[in-house]
Amino acid sequence: MALFHMLYLSRSTRDWTMAELAQLVAYSQRRNEQDGLTGLLLYGRGHFLQLLEGRRQPLLLTYDRIARDARHTDIELLLDGPIPARVFEGWAMGLLNVDQSGEVDRDRFDRLIAAFGPRQEPQAENALALSLLKEFRAHATARPAATRLPDLA
Ligand code: FAD
Repeated sequence: MALFHMLYLSRSTRDWTMAELAQLVAYSQRRNEQDGLTGLLLYGRGHFLQLLEGRRQPLLLTYDRIARDARHTDIELLLDGPIPARVFEGWAMGLLNVDQSGEVDRDRFDRLIAAFGPRQEPQAENALALSLLKEFRAHATARPAATRLPDLA
């Protein structure tokens, strides 16, 4: 079954505590497990950067729900295209609060955003962005997606 990814950048409409972020991610993990979606949510400098991976239809439906959520605004789709494999296999949604992380993560977060530069249309892939996202795996928290449906289902 073909896999796709979507990465967006948005501006939070308020400050989030770690407890609030954890609650949002726990909810997202439950829904994403049912939808076979994986990914990573980064929060920092008043922005969200979220990578979502999975089959096309649940991915689009979830992105549409997220895009309508009033808890963030100015959503900019940076990546949208097919992928050969998941970067966050087994992560129903990872979380990293970059503001509370080290300087290395904050620098990585800035480089990740800068990897896209000014553009009009989302890119299908961006090798630098994906390699930076992979580097976050060591520091983010995740819960195994034990009940995630297999991609071939
Ligand atoms: P309902 O539950 O009917 O809610 C309707 C609206 O109410 C939502 O759009 C939202 O604006 C608002 N709302 C819901 N809960 C709260 C709350 N606790 N406080 C304030 N307003 C609220 N969902 C996923 O399934 N997977 C994800 O990976 C995911 N990632 C997210 C990342 C971010 C940065 C944000 C802000 C939200 C994310 N969500 C995610 C949640 C998603 O945006 C929807 O709120 C959720 O999926 C419920 O959708 P619904 O249509 O059933 O909305």
